[in-house]
Amino acid sequence: GPILGIEASCDETAAAVLAPDGRILSEVVHSQLQEHARFGGVVPEVAARAHLQRLPELTSRAMREAGVEYRDLAGVAATSGPGLIGGLVVGACFGKGIALAHDLPFVAVNHLEGHALTVRLTHPGTEFPYLLLLLSGGHCQCVAVERLGRYRRLGSTLDDAVGEAFDKSAKLMGLPWPGGPYLERLAQEGDARRVTLPRPLVGREGCDFSFSGLKTAVARALAQGAEKADVAAAFQVSVAAVLADRARHALAMLPGARALVVAGGVAANQAVRGALEKVATGAGIPLIAPPIRLCTDNAVMIAWAGLLRLQAGAADALDHAPRPRWPLDEMALN
Ligand code: ATP
Ligand code: MG
Ligand code: FE
Repeated sequence: GPILGIEASCDETAAAVLAPDGRILSEVVHSQLQEHARFGGVVPEVAARAHLQRLPELTSRAMREAGVEYRDLAGVAATSGPGLIGGLVVGACFGKGIALAHDLPFVAVNHLEGHALTVRLTHPGTEFPYLLLLLSGGHCQCVAVERLGRYRRLGSTLDDAVGEAFDKSAKLMGLPWPGGPYLERLAQEGDARRVTLPRPLVGREGCDFSFSGLKTAVARALAQGAEKADVAAAFQVSVAAVLADRARHALAMLPGARALVVAGGVAANQAVRGALEKVATGAGIPLIAPPIRLCTDNAVMIAWAGLLRLQAGAADALDHAPRPRWPLDEMALN
């Protein structure tokens, strides 16, 4: 039977139903941007309350649109970490409640595993191992995806995530939150050559990231009177150069990589994509980006990871505790 997926780990409330072969029968996402915009960032309590309010209706809608009854499901998968504890508790308990009431297996899905496996749904030809660059507001890491349940984090950010760097820099430029897309638009009107910004960790061993120094340099350039658009353009050039360099290093750490895969909202950025495209071409492999609605937070990827785990014989007990921190390295199937 089909599987129901539930996602509530951050600021998207989402539900989706997948057929056993991975066909998407329905997908519903409610982004809480409106709720958080006036605070200039995600407020955990506000998020948890909004998830609680929306999940029943969203889930009913996903089931209705899929034309599936609860009793016909093969299982329920819900994000159980990493993320904001309030949302994780709401989403996981909701999923467990449905599983309990209808006597279905429950799968506690790692959100990062969802991002890591999405490409196998959208581009089924993608073979292991591949390099995943997860570039979102909360995460910034290079992951070797070796097979279902086996992931190695090759590097990650030492301070801010790349999306966070976009958002903080955009805020300094007076742009609305979340600022990534606004900054990209502003950069088109600017000249990157008029401002010099650092490229943190470029050339350094390994594939860790650091963005807080770049943000500080943005603040300094603005304080010295540089044009916002020029700063935005220079910021984007720096970020693209950093990501390209780190991706090159990460690929050297995974010599057999069959593809370079991107996920996370920052994957929508054209300068970033262009830079990564060159890295992939240079390595003789494709750059693969799932459609952006499946790169950002969604429940399709949670249902998909749950489906694969169920098919591999893995389910979780109903007393599985949500994990606000849950590294991908701890996902091995028994
Ligand atoms: P998580 O990290 O838990 O996955 P998130 O909500 O922070 O959650 P996403 O929804 O994947 O992550 O992505 C949102 C981030 O992507 C924001 O920081 C946003 O500014 C950034 N972003 C979106 N579009 C662009 C763009 N065109 N250019 C740069 N950054 C972008
Ligand atoms: Mg989000
Ligand atoms: Fe995410």
